Amino acid sequence: ISVKSFQCHQCHEILPIGKARSHVGKHILKRMRGVVEALSGDQIETPDPCGFCGRSGLPECSRLYLTAGANPQPKSDCQHFYKFMYQRALISTDNTPSTNVPILCSIIGCTHRQGKFVTAIWKYNAKQHLEDKHPGYLTDGLAASNAAPIPIEMLHAMEITDDEERRMGIPTQYRPAKPVLPPIQAKAVLPRSRKRPHTATEVGPERPNRRVRLS
Ligand SMILES: [Zn+2]
Ligand SMILES: [Zn+2]
Ligand SMILES: [Zn+2]
Repeated sequence: ISVKSFQCHQCHEILPIGKARSHVGKHILKRMRGVVEALSGDQIETPDPCGFCGRSGLPECSRLYLTAGANPQPKSDCQHFYKFMYQRALISTDNTPSTNVPILCSIIGCTHRQGKFVTAIWKYNAKQHLEDKHPGYLTDGLAASNAAPIPIEMLHAMEITDDEERRMGIPTQYRPAKPVLPPIQAKAVLPRSRKRPHTATEVGPERPNRRVRLS
């Protein structure tokens, strides 16, 4: 196996490392949704399977981070870790169907800064994380009298769309009902830079006509 490939711990298939998240994500999501798979290798174990290798309970896999700042980059000590375009990975496509990426838990006091890194959790594991680590919070986003609401930005970060479930091979009858999320408040949106790029094609003031008009 070359450095750029990996063998799946669950089904033993050998794939390019860049496919690891989406491939392993299928095993994880099927396990989460109760879709039975005949796997020749390890079974996915809850509550916290690693999004790179699908295994649970390994200290190297639990070292999962995002870099701090406006353009977060994922980092893990998992043996199947590879760098990927984080912002692009937030959107499910036919090529990279899984949006299982490290996200930040928005519950106050949960994430920790370690140098330039912030501790993260896997998106697919976020609901279970909330139930295990933050009892007393609602995980379905619906109002109830005695439970605290999950921050809206976290509900959005956790959202698995029906399109993604379809691409991940989850049959319709296994997909949970999804409440419509309230929009993220405008204040949560980072201000965009107003600076316009200066390009060579930018048109300056017209040159004065230097022709001397003879009378
Ligand atoms: Zn596999
Ligand atoms: Zn791992
Ligand atoms: Zn948390």
